[in-house]
Amino acid sequence: QTSTQMNFSGGPGALPAPVLRQTRDAIEALPETGLSVLGMSHRSAWFRAVLDEAEHNLRELLDIPRHYHVLFMQGGSSLQFSMLPMNFLRGTKQRAEYIVSGYWSAKAPVEARHEGHASVIWDGYDERYTRLPQADELRLSEDAAYLHYVSNETVEGLEFAEAPGLPGVPLVCDMSSNLLAGPIDVERYALIYAHAQKNLGPSGVTVVILRDDFARRARGSLPTMLDYRTHIDTRSLYNTPPVFAIYVLMLVTRWLRGEIGGVAAMAEINRAKARAVYGALDAYPGFYRVHAERSCRSTMNIAFRLPDTVTETLFLEAAQRDGLHGLEGHRSIGGLRASLYNAVTLDAAATLTQWLTDFARRYG
Ligand code: PMP
Repeated sequence: QTSTQMNFSGGPGALPAPVLRQTRDAIEALPETGLSVLGMSHRSAWFRAVLDEAEHNLRELLDIPRHYHVLFMQGGSSLQFSMLPMNFLRGTKQRAEYIVSGYWSAKAPVEARHEGHASVIWDGYDERYTRLPQADELRLSEDAAYLHYVSNETVEGLEFAEAPGLPGVPLVCDMSSNLLAGPIDVERYALIYAHAQKNLGPSGVTVVILRDDFARRARGSLPTMLDYRTHIDTRSLYNTPPVFAIYVLMLVTRWLRGEIGGVAAMAEINRAKARAVYGALDAYPGFYRVHAERSCRSTMNIAFRLPDTVTETLFLEAAQRDGLHGLEGHRSIGGLRASLYNAVTLDAAATLTQWLTDFARRYG
């Protein structure tokens, strides 16, 4: 993202400009080693320090207690859809419960059914995933293996304000598109996962935060790579991890702690960006239609439509010409989407806000 070219992509998305500059230099030669980051051994002391700092920064940013592990894994969030039930559902008589509130959360129970019993306890499909459930709509059971949900639906732009669930049931959350966007209460969860390519860094690494006692409940006899305990016991160095992606993630967490001042400060900036962009859309209700019901609107992804697809195509072409990129909606629902991840600056959001206003005045 430069001052003239702005990235509103749903993911992989914008990365902070200072991180990109350091990454560019590191591809040539790391300040610490004089070698390219792309040729650094994962067994080097340099990389151990990178892993340690990445973990430390995440622990500081999110207040992650000692009895939680922080793992750097591969396979994206899609592999977590499978690993979770392989480790915690397979071979049990329990049911796992799933909230299906959008495109991504709908994929998770499909994978769980390969491993055991999975019930969808709420499904927003009939309402085209325009809203999230109220607490009293969820039929939760006390003896579920776990409850799974997605805290921010990237495609539809829906974000939970509160974590659902019962205190005694392990809560599992896919936070791929809003981890590090603001503070979370880690102790509410048994397991959190998030791929990097939104707020954390480039694609290729997936962060898993899991409580030790929950991890120890995993089934025996899993393929080594698919057993969380392998990655706990080897501190994410069982096999060759994505060194480059983890390095950039470390730089992003350093930037968030240093230049931004932490996740609470980040949340405030994110709220200001979202307020501005929603404000421009709401000012022209006959022209722009936001997909999400007001009470469930995401600060990260804003999915919206124009009166017809011809105008949407015109919108995308004009936006691109003006340096506003990545505004096309997800292929599953079409339309438009503005993603305002951490690295999208207040300035970029202000530019988009003005641009939306100008476009509505011209074509609305
Ligand atoms: N969950 C959510 C919330 C997502 O947004 C995505 C992808 N954007 C995924 C899961 C799938 O992630 P991956 O491509 O890393 O498997």
